[in-house]
Amino acid sequence: MTQPTPEQMERAEKLYREHRTTGWDGADVPAAIVAAILQSDQQQAELKAHAEVLEGILAEFIEVNDDPCRYDHHGYCQAHFLEEDCLVKRARTTLKEQHQ
Ligand SMILES: [Zn+2]
Repeated sequence: MTQPTPEQMERAEKLYREHRTTGWDGADVPAAIVAAILQSDQQQAELKAHAEVLEGILAEFIEVNDDPCRYDHHGYCQAHFLEEDCLVKRARTTLKEQHQ
């Protein structure tokens, strides 16, 4: 198991204090809490890395499809994939929202 940082230990102690009165007991409880926090932080780091990869792919997708949307009289984008809610427009909006 990775060694916890002081900040993670503090969170573990806080969790332990909060749950001490709700029936958690036993000598291995603090270790279990620390392990849960470490696992949670690792999962969060993995998700962040995954999101960064997807964001990069989205940025490339937008770069390749850099021409502006052109909607016909039926409301379908003629510049891209002939959708009413253009995929390129949604990609641009999503990426912009991520960076606000
Ligand atoms: Zn479009």
